[in-house]
Amino acid sequence: MKISRLASEIAESPTLALNEEARRLRERGEAVINLGIGEPKNKAPIAAILSSGAKLSGGEIKYTPPDGMPSMKKAVIRYTEENYDRLVAPENVIITHGAKQSLYNIFYSILDPQDEVIIIAPYWVSYPEMIKMCMGIPVVVTPEDGTFTPRFEEIERAVSSSTRAIVINSPNNPSGAIYPPELIQKIVDLCERKGIFMVCDDIYHKLTFDRNVAPPAYSFTKKDIESSHIIVVNGVAKLYGMTGFRVGWVVAPRKLVEVMTNVLAQTTSCVSPMAQAAAEGALNGLQSAVEALRLQIQNNRDVVLQEMRSFHGARLIEPKGTFYALPDLRAFGNNSIEMSRFLLKKALVVTVPGREFGMEGHIRISFAGSVKDITEGMARIRWALDPNSPNEIYIGDRKIIRDWM
Ligand code: PMP
Repeated sequence: MKISRLASEIAESPTLALNEEARRLRERGEAVINLGIGEPKNKAPIAAILSSGAKLSGGEIKYTPPDGMPSMKKAVIRYTEENYDRLVAPENVIITHGAKQSLYNIFYSILDPQDEVIIIAPYWVSYPEMIKMCMGIPVVVTPEDGTFTPRFEEIERAVSSSTRAIVINSPNNPSGAIYPPELIQKIVDLCERKGIFMVCDDIYHKLTFDRNVAPPAYSFTKKDIESSHIIVVNGVAKLYGMTGFRVGWVVAPRKLVEVMTNVLAQTTSCVSPMAQAAAEGALNGLQSAVEALRLQIQNNRDVVLQEMRSFHGARLIEPKGTFYALPDLRAFGNNSIEMSRFLLKKALVVTVPGREFGMEGHIRISFAGSVKDITEGMARIRWALDPNSPNEIYIGDRKIIRDWM
């Protein structure tokens, strides 16, 4: 069977693969704790359910315009005005199958073969693969000081005549870092000066803790949306706990939206109207669900910090947003893939190896789940790695003694 070189070189999604492994173990009756998946536990907001239900019971489930239902686009326009202080036109908005398709379509629409896109480590696993699928070259900037926040000069140095875009994901998956406003300001200026797109993956923009905020790139430019090089990606998956609805959107100059609409129309036609209606309901409904989720996740983050305090050898830069922590476990070994496998085998905890995010020696822990799972999961990881922790633990109803150190 002949499979294309381009497709064969695309890596499997590590989070989905680990979830599958966890599901198999759970089916065998094992007490698996999943700290791998980036998915809040809450149900979809009631406004989303009612809106989608009304659409479904109307029975008129047809193709929508490829760029989205006008009422959904209107909801995005209102959301953009409220949260980004920008009034945009319907022609600046396209509705996509999750933020994932937003990003893929953006790369497909702006890249020619060998064009470069700058991404910052640690980065979301899908960026390099998507860029490669669109025949582009991911150029990784890794903060030299060992933090998760690059210095502006490091980004500027990576720009070449082939650079078409810089992807900014702040708050950041997988580290929870929020880039400082001065850095965002400088990147906006750089992109405008050089005519490079600044792709802002804002999927976690309201999941910020304490007094931290992630300022939108728009607040650092006086240019109007047509001449600005800012592209905003957002969606309902994380803020509203609506991962399965698969609805995201892009706000961008209309010329780009026009091209992206053709790409979407020729590949998936449109997003399902039930899903769009659900997203519209979420955006137009009471926003208290987002704040409730933020507070719950912040509390979970505090539990992780608490657990980390007694984890000798592990180092963690405190997450300021998202629902991920990326502890540095190099004191216990450098191979994060082996470490994640080891943790699943010995402690029955799913984590994601840092190598997938361009940060070897780290593992990603999601704290989107229940406090019980987080507390127990962290205790199991400590037990498996830290010789200072008690050497007995209960996993499910089995008492296990650590016998490998
Ligand atoms: N960007 C980032 C940084 C993400 O973490 C995710 C989801 N894990 C996405 C985009 C994709 O979101 P969606 O589910 O809307 O496709």
